[in-house]
Amino acid sequence: MQYHSTRDSSRHISAARAIADGLAPDGGLYVPSSFPQVGEQQLRAMLPMDYRARAAYIMGLYLDEFSPEEIDAMTRAAYGDRFRDGRIAPLHMLCDDTAVLELWHGPTCAFKDMALQMLPHLLTASLLKCGETRDVCILTATSGDTGKAALEGFCDVPRTRIVVFYPIDGVSRVQKLQMTTQLGGNVLVSGVKGNFDDAQTGVKAIFGNRELAARLDAKGVFLSSANSMNWGRLLPQIAYYFSAYCDFVNAGKLRLGEKLDFCVPTGNFGNILAGWIAGRMGLPAGRYLCASNANNVLTDFIRTGVYDRKRPFHTTISPSMDILISSNLERLLYFMSGSEEEVRGYMASLSDSGSYTVNSRVREGVRADFEGGFCDDAETKRTIARCFREYGYLADPHTAVALHVLEASREKSGERRPCVVLSTASPYKFADDVLSALGGTARAEDALPALAAATGTDIPAPLADLRARAVRFEGCVGKDEMLPLVERYLS
Ligand SMILES: *Cc1c(COP(=O)(O)O)cnc(C)c1O
Repeated sequence: MQYHSTRDSSRHISAARAIADGLAPDGGLYVPSSFPQVGEQQLRAMLPMDYRARAAYIMGLYLDEFSPEEIDAMTRAAYGDRFRDGRIAPLHMLCDDTAVLELWHGPTCAFKDMALQMLPHLLTASLLKCGETRDVCILTATSGDTGKAALEGFCDVPRTRIVVFYPIDGVSRVQKLQMTTQLGGNVLVSGVKGNFDDAQTGVKAIFGNRELAARLDAKGVFLSSANSMNWGRLLPQIAYYFSAYCDFVNAGKLRLGEKLDFCVPTGNFGNILAGWIAGRMGLPAGRYLCASNANNVLTDFIRTGVYDRKRPFHTTISPSMDILISSNLERLLYFMSGSEEEVRGYMASLSDSGSYTVNSRVREGVRADFEGGFCDDAETKRTIARCFREYGYLADPHTAVALHVLEASREKSGERRPCVVLSTASPYKFADDVLSALGGTARAEDALPALAAATGTDIPAPLADLRARAVRFEGCVGKDEMLPLVERYLS
């Protein structure tokens, strides 16, 4: 399988190179040159498999320069005993036609672990395959969950270092503690004054700085990304859409071949794009419901074909979706338009004027596959309470946004099609807001035990001892100080 940039389809590279580099040098994102097909027979063969085997099968389709043994070894290492549930990504049926896909049983209690427990294995193997002699520094801006998951994934991995920037006032208390207490000899964590888009823009500027790249090259280091711009982040995510479909069939609630909808709490558009790719590979997917919080730039885009980031930024109780520039949308635009010129035009317009308008072909293509919806914090909290009351199921705020969007869509259309809601974080990562949604109160530092007591659920082990850990990283920098900080750390 060959890969090329969304902004230049003339230069073809291997999967290993695409994963090692993260971002294309022209600023575009790497995409595979085709979608391998998974027919009904292959899908049937996946039904009895466990998660590791399903993931190895799907990922192998895109990694032909890796041997089946290598891929098996990677999936066993990634999806092993660091996950607290042996099923890795269990499907929880709420009722006959609605299920929740729990993607947060990994070490950091958010769905980012599904990809970031795999990425270090993919990346170190890719460096070897490329004959790359330099070490890699992973540079990441996080809206909260990516940073911690990347730190856990890369902590003390040979030949790698990792730098994480998070918006100082844009992450939850638990998320911040998770990052600032990170162990490991190859890690650096820093706050950034501003919101997630400021942090991400700063990181993109560091990636785009050729003088810096040359200075680092002389020191035997190059930069790569653990953001979902990296194909190695997206690829492991495709697998759980197939897995969820198989488990829905195995639960006896769907016939093989019947269509299944997916409702995805969305920020950078990585998760939902992985699902859409699964559909292009032959998974019998129906519609993709793209669920946003008050930062509803994607809802508007899907409805109108106009992407306009010039709007107020809202800090919400679902902070991992507080994003106004959804980087992975660029891949969808490329697949929908099939034209790198068109993509270059949209992206130039976004960076020059803060908005772009897609042509009617792309607009209709998007509307045929996606439906957009959003809700505010008050509605999110009501949904958490209602879900717990009706199903005895405790949802985090991101999952609740999706549950609400699904409900609203069903009400509006008067139809109930089978649907999987992707659950992206443990409710305990956002314990104070979840507790308050259920009508409880506690001091911020007591929110986790209070939530456990109020709901009869357990605090996940990695979050239980957070308070006792020493804070290692107190720093916070302005946007302009990010590059010097990275360079100092690497010298
Ligand atoms: C990252 C994240 C999201 C958004 O996923 P994207 O791939 O960026 O769309 C949603 N919920 C949680 C909890 C997350 O950590």
